[in-house]
Amino acid sequence: MKITRLTTYRLPPRWLFLKVETDEGVIGWGEPVVEGHARSVETAVHEMSHYLIGQDPSRINDLWQTLYRGGFYRGGATIMSAIAGIDQALWDIKGKVLGVPVYQLLGGLVRDQIKTYSWVGGDRPADIIEGINKLRKAGFDTFKLNGCEEMGILDNTRKVDATVAVVASIRETFGTAIDFGLDFHGRVSAPMAKILIKELEPYRPLFIEEPVLAEQAEYYPKLAAQTPIPLAAGERMYSRFEFKHILEAGGIAILQPDLSHAGGITECYKIAAMAEAYDVSLAPHCPLGPIALASCLHIDFVSRNAVLQEQSMGIHYNKGAELLDYVKNKDDFRVVEGYFSPLTKPGLGVEIDEEIVKEKSKLAPDWTNPLWRYYDGAVAEW
Ligand SMILES: [Mg+2]
Repeated sequence: MKITRLTTYRLPPRWLFLKVETDEGVIGWGEPVVEGHARSVETAVHEMSHYLIGQDPSRINDLWQTLYRGGFYRGGATIMSAIAGIDQALWDIKGKVLGVPVYQLLGGLVRDQIKTYSWVGGDRPADIIEGINKLRKAGFDTFKLNGCEEMGILDNTRKVDATVAVVASIRETFGTAIDFGLDFHGRVSAPMAKILIKELEPYRPLFIEEPVLAEQAEYYPKLAAQTPIPLAAGERMYSRFEFKHILEAGGIAILQPDLSHAGGITECYKIAAMAEAYDVSLAPHCPLGPIALASCLHIDFVSRNAVLQEQSMGIHYNKGAELLDYVKNKDDFRVVEGYFSPLTKPGLGVEIDEEIVKEKSKLAPDWTNPLWRYYDGAVAEW
């Protein structure tokens, strides 16, 4: 079998799908994308196509190494996301050829279901209580919200109090009937993270995500020494070679590699195993589409240390399309009492409706995140 063609579709809300075709008619789907840079990743995918066309798709390990090492320069969001989507499509093809779900090819199930959580409250945390009430009716008992809005490098007490008030209201309303993680989203600098974490501690968040940016990772062990709240990070790290420094330095309790950013299934399976060796749990990052989510689920179902799966149903970014709009087998992604079940169809287990994909790709918007500024006019982290 030989790879014959790579076709990409930019799609609403902010996704890129990749179709890999073979000379025997087996098709694989992947989701190579960096949110806000879909065109850059699309270009990177096509730039790599000369390594793929005419090659045997079953040699995933060799093709991964070729894509990673063959071009001399490596790493980073764009290149690793391109590799990720290609890798997902190759696993999809392999599973379809052999007639089994990808988790079977990785050694089989290690659990029967995986807990998922829902985003609540949008970019600027608002209407949280109402949002949680609605989602509880759909069976969720675990949530994630942005911890705060813009937070200056040295910000005032009112900002801190406003952040704490939102979190306090959640515990006051729901007690311990629910759990919630707080995503600082890289918005918080180390001095303010120290203060916020201390003030938030009484409300027992399940975790605090990106307490500071990954480029300030030297603060992770220091912040962890200050608090029992588990710290999470990983969505802006792109390979084993970055994660090893995080694991060696300590401080992160929950690793969050993104299956569409960190080299795909091949790489994230290894990252998950590295995390297990450090007694660090796994919660793959996934505010993306159905192929990315399916890829995450296969890793969750073969990794003992996987604890939570993010997903994008109803997420504030999903303007113009929802998670399952391009999926035929929607029922396989049903969340029951807050849990996903294994996807049982061959390959990734997601059946893409290509007619809808073609149609919607004609109108694909170029999504970009908002650019925020502080009250003094300086650029703020979003
Ligand atoms: Mg995050």
